[in-house]
Amino acid sequence: MNDTTSFLKFDASPPAFSLENWTECSGKDFVEAFDVHSFTEAVAIAAEKLRNVLEQHDIKGVTLQSPQVLTAAARALMCGEKNSGFEAKRFADTLDLYLNTCIRVGSRGYMGRQFSSVVPVSAVFDLVSALAPQPASYYEAGQLANVADKIMAEEFAPFIGWPANSFDMVTTSGASLANLTAVLAARNQKLGPIWTKGLETPIDGKRPAIAIGEDAHYSVVRLGGILGIGQDQVIRLPLNSQHQICPVRAEQRIEAAKQCGLNVFCLVASAGTTAVGAIDPLTELAILARKHSIWFHVDAAHGGALLVSDRLRSRLQGLEMADSFCLDAHKMLFVPALCTLLFYRNRSAAAAAFPHRTASYVADPFDDEISHFQSGSKNFECTKRASILNLWLVWALFGRCFFEGKINHLIDMTSEIYAYLRSLPDFEVVHNPEINILCFRHCPHGLQRDQHDTFQFELRDRVRKGGRYFVSAAVLNGKAAMRLVLMNHEITLQDVAGLVREIRGHAQNILHEQASPVPPSKWQATSALPI
Ligand SMILES: *Cc1c(COP(=O)(O)O)cnc(C)c1O
Repeated sequence: MNDTTSFLKFDASPPAFSLENWTECSGKDFVEAFDVHSFTEAVAIAAEKLRNVLEQHDIKGVTLQSPQVLTAAARALMCGEKNSGFEAKRFADTLDLYLNTCIRVGSRGYMGRQFSSVVPVSAVFDLVSALAPQPASYYEAGQLANVADKIMAEEFAPFIGWPANSFDMVTTSGASLANLTAVLAARNQKLGPIWTKGLETPIDGKRPAIAIGEDAHYSVVRLGGILGIGQDQVIRLPLNSQHQICPVRAEQRIEAAKQCGLNVFCLVASAGTTAVGAIDPLTELAILARKHSIWFHVDAAHGGALLVSDRLRSRLQGLEMADSFCLDAHKMLFVPALCTLLFYRNRSAAAAAFPHRTASYVADPFDDEISHFQSGSKNFECTKRASILNLWLVWALFGRCFFEGKINHLIDMTSEIYAYLRSLPDFEVVHNPEINILCFRHCPHGLQRDQHDTFQFELRDRVRKGGRYFVSAAVLNGKAAMRLVLMNHEITLQDVAGLVREIRGHAQNILHEQASPVPPSKWQATSALPI
C-alpha cells in the first residue's frame, strides 16, 4: 500500500462529528492561568516593585549568590504538579528573587558592563508588546513593527550619509546575530555558489578566509567555525598602541594570507571594541578592503550610536563606506534588549544572506507592496520580538536630541574620569578613551611587579563582593586591567572617588593578608536568600 492509497482510505471514512459534543472550555484548570484579574493584580504588584527600584538612589553593585543557594530558593517557589492558581504572594516573592539577583543598572555603583538601564516607558511598552505581540518578520503578523523598521532606517540614513532607497536595514536579536548575518551575506556574495554547493567546492583553488582585529568581539572570532571557513582561516590583524587595527600592518597580513593561498573575502573592523571602546580607522580600512575586493563589515555594536550625535558623529568617519555595519540599540540607545540594527550599504546585498525564497506558509510566492516591508527573507529569525518598536517609541516620544544628550554626557563623563584617574599616582590608565569605556590598573606602593595582573582580578572580585560598586576586567596586550563602562548618566566624579577609596582599601587588605594568605570564598556567606 503506498501513501496515496492510505491517504484515500483515511479520507473515505471520516470520524463521526457532532457539534453538541464540542467540549466547553470554561472552568477547566488551565483557563485560570489566563484570568484577567490575575493579570491586573500582577501588573500592580510589579509596578509597585519597579517604582521602588527606580526610586532607589543607594550605591549598589550586584549581590552574587551561590548557584546552589539560588537554585534552592527558586525551587522553593515552584508549585510542582498541583496547579494552585495565581497566588499573589508567590508571584511577589518570585519578583523579589529576580530583583535581588539583578545587576543594579540604575545604581551609581554600576560601572562595569555595557548593559544599559532602559528608558522606563520603553520597558512598559515591552510588556504591552509581549502580551499583544507583533512578531516582526512578516507584515501580516507585525504590521507596525515592519513599518517601524523602515522609519528607523530612514531616520538614520542622513546621519550615515546614505541616500534614501539606496540601502537596507534589518533588525536582529543582538549584534552577535547581526555580525553572523552580515558575514554570511559577504560569504554568499563573494564566494559564488557556496550556498548551494557547500564549502567543498574549490574556489579558484583558494581557501576562503576572513580578517578581523586582534580585539574583535568573540561573536566575530567564532564566525570561522560557524560559517564553515574554519578558525584557522580567521586572520587576526595587529593593533596599534591605541588598540585599533593598524591599516599598514593589516594590509601586510592580508597580502601574506593571499601568498599562502587564502582568499580573504571579508574584513571585520570594530567601532568601539568591547574591551576598551577603540574605534578602528574605518576610512583607511574601507579603502584597503575595496582595493582587495573584500566585503567590509563594521561591528559598531557599542559605538554606532555616536551617529545620532552631531558632535561625535565624525568619530565614525568611514562607516559610510562599509558594506555593512550593525549597532546595538540596547546598549547606547537605552532600550530593552535585544534590539540591533544591521545596515547594508547596497540595498540588494541584504538578500544575499539567505538567497532562497522563503517558504510559502509565511510569504506568498510573488512580490507585492507588502513584500518590500517584511524582513523575514533577510533574517535568521522567523518568530521575532518586535524590539524595534521600543526604539521607535522612545524616538517618537523624546526625539533624537534625547539620545544625543545622554551619549554626549556619557562620553564627557568618561573623559573627566580619565583625567581624574591619571592624576592619581597609584592608578595607571591603560588607554585614552574614545567612547565610554575606560580600563585602568591600581598599582599601590609595595606591590611586586609580577603580581600586578592577578592583583587587578583580585580587586575586581573584592569590589564586586563588597556589593557597592560593580566593575569588570579585561586583559589588554597580556596585561590585566579593571574596566569601567559608563552607561548611567547619574554617576558623578564623587562616585568614582568612592570607587577609588574602595579599591585602595581592598588593596591594602590584600597586601596585609599576603603574609598569612587565607583563600577567600567567592560567594557571600549567606545560607538563605533574603526574599
Ligand atoms: C556587545 C557587543 C557585541 C555583542 O552584541 P550582543 O547584542 O550582546 O549580541 C558584539 N560586538 C561588540 C563590539 C559589542 O560591544
